[in-house]
Amino acid sequence: MTKNNPNILLIYTGGTIGMIKDPETGALRAFDFDNLLVRIPELKLLDCNIETISFEEPIDSSNMAPKYWVEIAEIIEDNYDAFDGFVILHGSDTMSYTASILSFMLEHLAKPVIFTGSQLPIGDLRTDAKENLITSIQVASLQHYNKPVIKEVCLYFEYKLYRANRTTKINAEHFEAFASLNYPDLAESGVHLKVNNEYLFKPNPRKSLIVHKELDSNIALIKLFPGISEALLVSIFNTPNLKGVVMETYGAGNCTTESWFVSLLKDTISKGIHIVNVTQCSGGSVMMGQYETSEKLKRIGVISGKDITSEAAISKLMYLLGQNISANLFKTIYETSLRGEMA
Ligand code: ASP
Repeated sequence: MTKNNPNILLIYTGGTIGMIKDPETGALRAFDFDNLLVRIPELKLLDCNIETISFEEPIDSSNMAPKYWVEIAEIIEDNYDAFDGFVILHGSDTMSYTASILSFMLEHLAKPVIFTGSQLPIGDLRTDAKENLITSIQVASLQHYNKPVIKEVCLYFEYKLYRANRTTKINAEHFEAFASLNYPDLAESGVHLKVNNEYLFKPNPRKSLIVHKELDSNIALIKLFPGISEALLVSIFNTPNLKGVVMETYGAGNCTTESWFVSLLKDTISKGIHIVNVTQCSGGSVMMGQYETSEKLKRIGVISGKDITSEAAISKLMYLLGQNISANLFKTIYETSLRGEMA
């Protein structure tokens, strides 16, 4: 590695970005990632040293699971001191989930961890992969007085850098596949790379990285709809070992005032199962108590997810349930912004 240039570790987990079309069958398959620098000669022009590491068996991100999140966290942990920044290539389908949970797992992160991917494979003539990859590496390499500019987990896609735990995949076809509706973009790539410094996460410089690997996935995600039945909810809330539920409600956190619904939630909470209220709207915040239809939720101890995304809400629940937090502190900690994931 050259001394003065930033050292970037490129981690390939799978996804369309690293696939090539098999000339015979036409099917997409992962290519040997060690050849990345050969396939993308532009990478040699960047002012940084790049090393690559790949999942032994790259996956389509629809197969993503907690064991892979731990694997990514361990790769970062093992290489944290040797590298100035990390770029993670990941399928776009579940990228917001992985990027969100990594933001919780990497406490006191003081270096950039940039997730990116693409809608078209890197070998495709019209690919969006090259721009996403090259700019992600440039973002991870940004330094000010030899210190990284970005000190958090981000997601870069189609000319925009977002705080990872604020993103959602919004489009299955457009190159602009992600949005961060409740938090401003951290940077925009045009003729210049414009970083919006005022929105960057500022970790405590005196703390060292802690990597949390205990995740508890005994949780559920429920989206309310008019007519949802008591039987369905009873069966979900009686799932063995269930410890927490993210409930997507209407608008600013509203739900039916029918008595069976509120008493079912009350009984569930009294059994020690945490219920988090998030809005099923793409943007905006839960404000329990604003309407009669959410006031009761507040009274029975439902946790407010405020303006968190469902992806980050689920991640935060798995992370906090893995932390053995006492029952009476859980709600307060959940309602506190830990990594800039909520207002
Ligand atoms: N199915 C792919 C994945 O998420 C899509 C992509 O890479 O964008 O792995």
